[in-house]
Amino acid sequence: TPVTIIITVIGVIAIVALVTVAVLQNMPLLQKYKYGIVLDAGSSHTSLYIYEWPAEKDNNTGRVEQKHSCTVDGPGISSYASAPPKAGESLRACMREAEEWVPKKRHHETPLYLGATAGMRLLDMENKVVSDKVFEAVKGALEKSPFSYQGARLLKGQEEGAFGWVTVNYLDDRLKQGLETTGALDLGGASTQISFVSDNYDGSESPSNSVTFRLYGNDYTLYTHSFLCYGKDQAQRIRLAEHTQSGPKIVADPCSHPGYSETKKYSVLYDSPCVSDRKPQGAPETFDHTGTGNFQECQEVVKKVFNFTKCKYSQCSFNGVFQPILQGPFGAFSAYYFVMDFLNLTDTSITLEDVKEKLKLYCATPWSQIVQQHPKTKPKYLAEYCFSGTYILTLLIDGYNFTSVSYSDIRFIKKIKGSDAGWTLGYMLNLTNMIPAEAPDTPPLPYA
Ligand code: AMP
Repeated sequence: TPVTIIITVIGVIAIVALVTVAVLQNMPLLQKYKYGIVLDAGSSHTSLYIYEWPAEKDNNTGRVEQKHSCTVDGPGISSYASAPPKAGESLRACMREAEEWVPKKRHHETPLYLGATAGMRLLDMENKVVSDKVFEAVKGALEKSPFSYQGARLLKGQEEGAFGWVTVNYLDDRLKQGLETTGALDLGGASTQISFVSDNYDGSESPSNSVTFRLYGNDYTLYTHSFLCYGKDQAQRIRLAEHTQSGPKIVADPCSHPGYSETKKYSVLYDSPCVSDRKPQGAPETFDHTGTGNFQECQEVVKKVFNFTKCKYSQCSFNGVFQPILQGPFGAFSAYYFVMDFLNLTDTSITLEDVKEKLKLYCATPWSQIVQQHPKTKPKYLAEYCFSGTYILTLLIDGYNFTSVSYSDIRFIKKIKGSDAGWTLGYMLNLTNMIPAEAPDTPPLPYA
């Protein structure tokens, strides 16, 4: 009858409604996210990172994660000294990508930062007017974006080191839990940073190397130092400058593979404040850079890049720079990782003797064989892995005083839980006040 049909329909509707309510009640509210964008303007390239965190919990309980990264095409912004506007234009493709990745309605409230590191520090030393022009160009490009632009600036070496340390320890969840921290080793093209907490260091000896933080209710006195000109590309220049003081036409380089030969310009090699004062007078226009592939000899010439003679402190790393006793563990990232990963040497449980033996074999491998075995690797990187590996070992062992025992405290890392290790995340967490000085009083409520 019509009555039973109506009752049945009402019954079905009621059941569907009840099931829907039950399902919805058990589902978390649709999660909302916030975003932040940081551009790392390094000496050899620029990378853009997009970070994401739950909107309701950003202050102390939410975990900030890297959602996306984009590598800018072309060289670092400091290479646009002769055409500054192009530095701004170069960022466009990654900025567009960021517009796709961040939901449109969040664009206006998404902070956008650019930090430039040692490549721009060198350009700033060399020609302040030009470096200002490069900054103007990138600022112009970023201001046009729909995001909330917060500034483009030159990071100090200490900031680069300290924020790298914050990133690693935040991602490892060591800060919130007040656990013993991990030191950070960062190798770029133009500078290198070492940052760690040592029980023997209270910041009083060489205060310029100390950075203090209060994070989640814990006080940290961090030792940090940034060595300008000791990134791997500038260290390579310093080393080649040693070889070319007499202005030779042929350079026989133990850090390049046998059979390697490339014509290079003196003007290009010496075009950096790290070496410009040593440019030989009356040198020819070019030299032939040839390889002999001898690891031991390479180690000897790389060692000469460091000065171990003077130290006015209780102890030093090199160049008269104070360094407290190393205290690990350590995470080593950026070029440390790229190089050691390429050389299959990221496993630090291998003894240092074995690492050196492998590098010795690698350096002695003929260039033709290296090229054949790695057709997809950029020739510029490929030509330098023997030098880069030797430089890394020498920097760690002779420079920073790692031993065959403490070497195994180092982990060569690229990412931690999906986010790249580097200064950018720590920088954003700091500028957005996302790490509270004090620990929250009460545990967060599940639905607060
Ligand atoms: P920066 O541009 O200052 O951050 O420095 C990055 C350094 O890493 C530069 O020395 C680059 O040449 C180097 N680099 C980047 N990618 C690779 C790679 N795949 N293999 C070797 N070196 C790399």
